[in-house]
Amino acid sequence: MQHMMFQLPPPALPVRGSDVLFPVRRIYCVGRNFAEHAREMGHDPALEPPFFFSKPADALVVVPGDVVYPPATADLHHEVELVVALAAGGRNLNAAQARACIYGYGVGLDLTRRDLQRAARDKGQPWDMGKGFDQSAPVSELVPASMCGHPRSGRIELSVNGRLRQQGDLADMILDVDALIQRLSTLVELRAGDLLFTGTPAGVAALQPGDRVSASVEGVAAIEVHVLRPVE
Ligand code: MN
Repeated sequence: MQHMMFQLPPPALPVRGSDVLFPVRRIYCVGRNFAEHAREMGHDPALEPPFFFSKPADALVVVPGDVVYPPATADLHHEVELVVALAAGGRNLNAAQARACIYGYGVGLDLTRRDLQRAARDKGQPWDMGKGFDQSAPVSELVPASMCGHPRSGRIELSVNGRLRQQGDLADMILDVDALIQRLSTLVELRAGDLLFTGTPAGVAALQPGDRVSASVEGVAAIEVHVLRPVE
């Protein structure tokens, strides 16, 4: 009889109005899914379509909560995003099948060590250390689609210490949520428990230790995240 040498806590998210936790399998993200953000990063959205990357599932932080300012960066950026949670999956899904996989929605921060991401890009190296570090994926409780519907328009915004930094509208996504799931399912087999960060609007900028971040997606949720000073 074989057994595990030790147990790992499974990443999971609370669900609004329920005692049941949603277990997280993988965290997928999409890059440059809002044209204004693609342009602020120096890219032409007409020439470079959105693309996918991922974060480790245990980079998840349940919010409201705290994150510790991470090591090895002087340029930690906020990116507010609509997060989609899947209760089913598959490969090569059509739009209706993609929609049917969605369990619910949350609000997340795709925290990014921009200096490391840029250095990797310039050297043709992977993004992992810029995007997939510890505590790089704060996410709200999930709101089941049975409660919030399938939001495809509405304000998405982020403030730092009460000052508005990012704002946009879900309707301005280059690929909408269903199209993103559909396209991602041609690259990997999606499964129940997968999360998808769907891209950030313009206005990304640096966070400092001590900052209080407020972020929201209209009709879904609002979150607060406190950026703690690292312990020496
Ligand atoms: Mn992002």
